Amino acid sequence: MTNPSVDDILAGLRRGDRAVLARAITLVESTRPEHRRLAEAIVEQCLPAPSSTFRLGISGVPGVGKSTFIDELGVRLIGMDRRVAVLAIDPSSDISGGSILGDKTRMPRLAGESNAFIRPSPSAGRLGAVAHRTREAIFLCEAAGFDFIIVETVGAGQSETAVHSMVDCFLLLALAGAGDELQGIKRGIMEMADVVVITKADGHNEAAAEEARGQLVHALRILPVSKSAWKPRVLTTSALTGKGFDKVIETIEAYERHVHARGYFEERRRDQQRFWLRETIERYLFEWIYGTSPASGELRELESKVVTGATSVPEAAADFLSKYLPGSIQSEDLERPD
Ligand code: GDP
Repeated sequence: MTNPSVDDILAGLRRGDRAVLARAITLVESTRPEHRRLAEAIVEQCLPAPSSTFRLGISGVPGVGKSTFIDELGVRLIGMDRRVAVLAIDPSSDISGGSILGDKTRMPRLAGESNAFIRPSPSAGRLGAVAHRTREAIFLCEAAGFDFIIVETVGAGQSETAVHSMVDCFLLLALAGAGDELQGIKRGIMEMADVVVITKADGHNEAAAEEARGQLVHALRILPVSKSAWKPRVLTTSALTGKGFDKVIETIEAYERHVHARGYFEERRRDQQRFWLRETIERYLFEWIYGTSPASGELRELESKVVTGATSVPEAAADFLSKYLPGSIQSEDLERPD
C-alpha cells in the first residue's frame, strides 16, 4: 500500500475522519524511518494544540473498573456534545506481547458511537517511547476534532507519571478494600490525583465505598497543596446503577473552570511542552550516543570493562564524559548522581 501524502492525511484529519486518524497514529507508532518522517511532518502541522480541548488521565489497577467507567463516562460526554478519544499507555503490553488496554470490546457502548475514537496502547517499546507516541496521538486526535481526550493507564507508578505529564487532569480509580482502605495506593500516585473515584459503590459494597471515601478525604487533606491550588476530590460511582457519574462530570467541569480561571491550565500545558522538548532531545541524544555516534564503540568497550570489574562505573563514566564534554569531570563528581 502506498503511503498517503501529508496533505491527504491533514485534510482527512480536518474532516474528522476516524480512519485517517487511525492511519496517522499508525504512522506515529511506526519505527520505519520513512513513516517517522511523515509522522513528524503531520504532527508538526497539528501544532499548536487548541486550548479548547481537555485531556483526562485515568489510572487504576486491573479490575478496578477502568473500561466500564470510561464506557459510561464517554457515552455521557458524547451526550453533552463532546467528541471523545480514548488512548492508552500499557506498560505490561511489552511483557504480555499484546495490549490489554483500550480494546474496543472493553468499551462496547462507546465503540458504537460515531463521536468516539478508541485506540489501544502502542505495544512495542520502552515506556518512554510509548509515552512519546501517545503524546503525539493526542495532538492528532485534537486535530481531528476530538475535544475530550482520555488517556488510560495501569501500572505501579512510572506509567502514571508519564500520563500525568501529558494530561490536564488526573483521575485515579480506587477500590474499597476490606481493612486496607487505601488498597496500597502509593503516595506518589495519590499526590498526582486531582480526582479520586471509588468504583463499584453498589450492593454490599456501597457502605465500604463510603467508608473508604471518608478515609481518602482524610488522607488527601494531609498532602501538600498542589500548584494548581485545587483540592483533590473523592467521589464514589457505580457503573451498574450509573450512580455518581453526574457528580464525576460536575467535578471535572469544576476542575476545568478552576484551572482556566487561575491560568494554571496554560501553565501546565507550557510545562508539559518543556518536558516534551527535553524528553525528545534526551531520547534522540541517547539513541545517537549508543547507536551511531563515533563514541558508541568506546561505550561498549567501557561497558564490558565495568562488567568484568576492570574499572568502576564512576571512573568509566568520568573518563568517557571528560573526553567528550568540555571541562574536566572527576569521578568524585559522579559518585552521587542525585
Ligand atoms: P479494568 O480492568 O480496570 O478495565 O476493569 P473492568 O472495567 O474490566 O471491570 C472489571 C470487572 O468489574 C468487570 O467484571 C466489571 O463488570 C466489574 N465492574 C466494573 N464496574 C463496576 C461497578 O460499578 N459495579 C460492579 N458491581 N461491578 C463493576
